[in-house]
Amino acid sequence: MHSSTTNRFVEETCIICEQPKLKGIHLYTKFICSDCEKDMIQTDTDNPKYRFYLQQLKKIRNKEIYS
Ligand SMILES: [Zn+2]
Repeated sequence: MHSSTTNRFVEETCIICEQPKLKGIHLYTKFICSDCEKDMIQTDTDNPKYRFYLQQLKKIRNKEIYS
């Protein structure tokens, strides 16, 4: 198993902050960096930021549906 050693250095663009990041999770075919993932979990649903996160996430699902 050598794949994990190469994957470590691959930057992927986070769909929330739209920055290239090394660490994060995959949702469908898209990538969310660990910073945004933590932020999303900690953000209260009353926070306007939460709506922004939801909007960014909707963007993924729509792309998945219509592509
Ligand atoms: Zn991010």
